[in-house]
Amino acid sequence: MKSPQQLIRPEIQALSAYHVPESGNLIKLDAMENPYTWPEEMVQEWLQDLRDVSINRYPDPSAQQLSMSLREAFTVPKGMEILMGNGSDELIQMIAMAVAEKDRVILAPQPSFVMYKMIATFTGMQFVGVPLNADDFSLDMHAMHQAIDKHQPAVIFLAYPNNPTGNLFAEEQVREIIEQAPGLVVVDEAYAAFAGHSFMNTLGEYDNLLVMRTVSKMGLAGLRLGLLAGPKEWLHEIDKVRLPYNINVLTQKSAVFSLKHKEVLDQQTRLICEEREKMFQQLQQIEGIEPYPSQANFILFRCVDRNANEVFESLLKDGVLIKNMSAAGGVLADCLRVTIGKPEENQSFLSVL
Ligand SMILES: *Cc1c(COP(=O)(O)O)cnc(C)c1O
Repeated sequence: MKSPQQLIRPEIQALSAYHVPESGNLIKLDAMENPYTWPEEMVQEWLQDLRDVSINRYPDPSAQQLSMSLREAFTVPKGMEILMGNGSDELIQMIAMAVAEKDRVILAPQPSFVMYKMIATFTGMQFVGVPLNADDFSLDMHAMHQAIDKHQPAVIFLAYPNNPTGNLFAEEQVREIIEQAPGLVVVDEAYAAFAGHSFMNTLGEYDNLLVMRTVSKMGLAGLRLGLLAGPKEWLHEIDKVRLPYNINVLTQKSAVFSLKHKEVLDQQTRLICEEREKMFQQLQQIEGIEPYPSQANFILFRCVDRNANEVFESLLKDGVLIKNMSAAGGVLADCLRVTIGKPEENQSFLSVL
């Protein structure tokens, strides 16, 4: 019998599994979660709603009701289709599976969301990362044009705002990329709730543009629900690699319920954006810390004359968990990323820092 070393693909053996640290009693500012819970009456109403769920039955395979709620909540333009995923991570995987061939390329700016590269590897595709400009993490258009021309990517992922840098790329440059691309361009708008601009309304202007959203960062990370919107010619094909019933009954029911109360989530989003501005100003005032402007619910900052690993470890020792980006090296050397939490959590973080 073959050993795992003989049987598992070498590129999979070379990976390390996506590591999620234990957070225990720590102040958890590492994963872009919304820190707020719901008012008690809303929780009661939700639990009441869940009583009607038929847990013995398979879910509605097309999730009709949820699909309508999502179209409305995210203002998907008429004439565009949507596809739901078990988190937008699953949608990235479905897109990749639908186009995967050994010599095909997935391209994304770098640094960006790590799953683009991981999923390219899972599906046996090539990944090309194009470095962002080091000073402000804007797109290096010369490098992008060259890489697109050379690699003819099947799919380009643009996180908008970008994770982990927090900035929006220039709209005109994104349009240039869509126009140049020989394949699909997926604009991944995981942080749209916190940002000033979206490509949702641009859908339909380009045949190769898809827009992806998730409910995770707006306060429903536990549900695992993402959304891909775009022309039906693409989505009908990608839908074929979707596993049946990928959106479970509890998620369907809970998402419909919470989107009915979207004003609660929107209010929380506003609080997070206000806190982000306060946090940015306060970070700017700390010596040796250089924060980057953000249109998301986190802030990336550089440690200039302190060692980022030491800052990270000492925060941890004092009970605050953020994300150490420094290990990634390159333009992220010396960088840490903090998620915006509740005011008191942010204050704890700032005072420890
Ligand atoms: C968090 C994140 C996602 C993943 O969202 P899920 O819906 O929770 O899978 C996708 N893209 C970006 C850029 C993210 O930061």
